[in-house]
Amino acid sequence: MERWMVGEMKPTPRLLMGPGPSNVHYRVYQAMLTPVIGYLDPELLKCMDDIKEMLKRLFQTKNELTLAISATGSSGMEAAFVNFVEPGDTVIVGVNGFFAERMTEVADRCGARVIRVEGEWGKIVEPERIIKALREHPEAKLCAVVHAETSTGVRQPLEDIGAHCQRNETLFVVDAVTSLGAGEVKVDEWGIDVCYSCTQKGISVPPGLSPFTASSRAMEVVRTRKTKVPSFYLDLLKLENYWGEERIYHHTAPASMLYALREGLRIIFEEGLEARLQRHQILGDKLKMELENLGFKQFAQEGYRLSMLTSVHVPEKVDDAKTRMRLLNEYKIEIGGGLGHLKGKIWRIGLMGETCRLQNIHLLTGALKEILK
Ligand SMILES: *Cc1c(COP(=O)(O)O)cnc(C)c1O
Repeated sequence: MERWMVGEMKPTPRLLMGPGPSNVHYRVYQAMLTPVIGYLDPELLKCMDDIKEMLKRLFQTKNELTLAISATGSSGMEAAFVNFVEPGDTVIVGVNGFFAERMTEVADRCGARVIRVEGEWGKIVEPERIIKALREHPEAKLCAVVHAETSTGVRQPLEDIGAHCQRNETLFVVDAVTSLGAGEVKVDEWGIDVCYSCTQKGISVPPGLSPFTASSRAMEVVRTRKTKVPSFYLDLLKLENYWGEERIYHHTAPASMLYALREGLRIIFEEGLEARLQRHQILGDKLKMELENLGFKQFAQEGYRLSMLTSVHVPEKVDDAKTRMRLLNEYKIEIGGGLGHLKGKIWRIGLMGETCRLQNIHLLTGALKEILK
């Protein structure tokens, strides 16, 4: 018998307190056992309609184009650029972390002329500086920022930038991959044209889909492009035809993931969105306080700290990798290390969705007390 033919697929249960994925509710796993059906089966189409309705509520939008792209959060980011940007277009990006940096790379690959508004990692990009860049480049097709910068724990303020974009021709693109489902995201009120997320962070569903919404003026930009959208798979006009009334086959919908997302969204609205966001705020504050009591210093700028992701400096005498490995092996707890130049310097601790429970704060701080003693 070959070695790969034996052995159970049974990973050790983990408490997922990293920057995602977060722990998944058993009801979501149960939903994934629902038998797979065809991509045009009326029952699957009903499941997609349910998802669309609930995503509109979660994004707090009336946008008709609201759906889930069949791939992880990164596909939402790609779709946000590939559909709206044509070669030579000007794109303004606020760059203060790893994921904002990735946005500039995606925009660059679309042939955009990228204007970077730089910010220090761990701080916001002041909205006035982005608005100044927008004034200097009235031709900008699109302005993009990351709402919850998962690499630093910073929450970027959006309203002023959104209001400015709405008064002009520039589309406002927001990455809500970590915030959606755990923090407030008000697409319509904040003047956001394009917003995308993932399933495995704030929404607490396995990775595999990217909730996505686009305003009608954003869709008008896609409809009046001079060139075809260079990606067939992420072409919003094609996705719109499948998720909309036409129901034209585009790709095989990943049925198991759609069942999972519908159940995850139901769990959110059973609790109530407001109650859920409040739980994240209260427990996020509590975690920060408990970590400070253990001697940790916050990394993210005061006043702009995320509730669902806490970043702290690794204390000087503490070995980053060794400590995180002990947390994983001895306590079955995953937390995140730093990305890019923050590797070894900070920890990123998630309290997202199902993971966001008081007992998990106790488990982590108890474990850290024993390890760091
Ligand atoms: C995780 C993350 C992404 C990438 O999402 P994937 O699901 O890993 O593809 C993009 N942006 C931000 C802010 C993220 O936290």
